[in-house]
Amino acid sequence: MKWIDLTPPEFRAAVRDCGLCVLPVGSLERHGEHGYFGTDGVIAETLAVKAAELEPAVVFPVWWFGQVHEASCFEGAINFPPEMLISMLRQLLNQIAKNGFRKICILNAHGGNHHWLQFFDMALLDEPRDYTLYLLDPRSGLNKQEKEKIAAVWETEPNHGAESETSISMAGAPGRVRLEQQPFAEPIRPMNRMEHLPGVSSGLWWYADYPENVTGCPSLASQEKGQAVMEVEIHAIARVLRTIKQDTVLPALREEFYRKSCRPLKPTAEDQRR
Ligand SMILES: [Zn+2]
Repeated sequence: MKWIDLTPPEFRAAVRDCGLCVLPVGSLERHGEHGYFGTDGVIAETLAVKAAELEPAVVFPVWWFGQVHEASCFEGAINFPPEMLISMLRQLLNQIAKNGFRKICILNAHGGNHHWLQFFDMALLDEPRDYTLYLLDPRSGLNKQEKEKIAAVWETEPNHGAESETSISMAGAPGRVRLEQQPFAEPIRPMNRMEHLPGVSSGLWWYADYPENVTGCPSLASQEKGQAVMEVEIHAIARVLRTIKQDTVLPALREEFYRKSCRPLKPTAEDQRR
C-alpha cells in the first residue's frame, strides 16, 4: 500500500500490522537519448509497490534525489551537495520512524547510489536511533533459479540504459521510452579512456567510458522482457520483505551496538593507580 493513499485509520492499522516502510530510491538522470529521466525511481517504485501487494508494507513516495554527480554534465540530472543529501535522507528516515515504523527498507534502483547508501548506513551507527534500516536493490533475494531465469531473458549484458534497464523501464511506465530516438551505433562499448591508468580510480571513470551515459544495446529492449524480469524480481523482493518483517537479529544487534557504544568506559586498574 502507498503511504500517500492511506487515511489515518488505515495508516495506524498498517503501522500496527506490518510495521515496515519501504522507501524507493532513484535519481534523475539521462538514460541515453531514448530513456526517460525518472527511469530509476519508476523501477524502484514499481518493484516496491508490487512486492508490497504480495507482502504487505507501506511504500513511501519515491526519493528522487540520489547522487548523479557522474552524469551531472547532462540535462535532466539533479544533484545536491553530498552533506545535504545525507542530512536530508537521515531526516526523512527519522520522520518515517517518528510515524511509528521500527523497520525501514530502502529499495534503490540507481547504481550510482550503491556506494554512498552503504556509507550512509554505516554513518548512521554513530548515533542511537529507534529503527532498523535494510538496504535492498532490484536483485535482492534472487535465488539461483531466478537468476538463471533472468539471465535467459537478456540477449546482452545488463547495464545502464542498455537492453536490460530499458526493458524494465518500459514495463514500469509503458509508452514512455522512445527507442526510435536511440542514435548511437550498437553495441555501445566502453571507450576505455582511462586504460593508460590501470588500477587508478577517478570520479570521471564512468564518463571516461560512457560519455553519452548509455551502454550496450538499448534497441534490443522490449516491454515483454522487462515484464518477465520484473515479475521474478517482485517475488524475490516480497520474500525479502517477509524475512525483514520477521527479523529479530538486526534489531537486537543494533540495540547491543548502541548499548556498547554509550557505555561509560570503566577505569582500568592502571588508571586507578595513577
Ligand atoms: Zn538507471
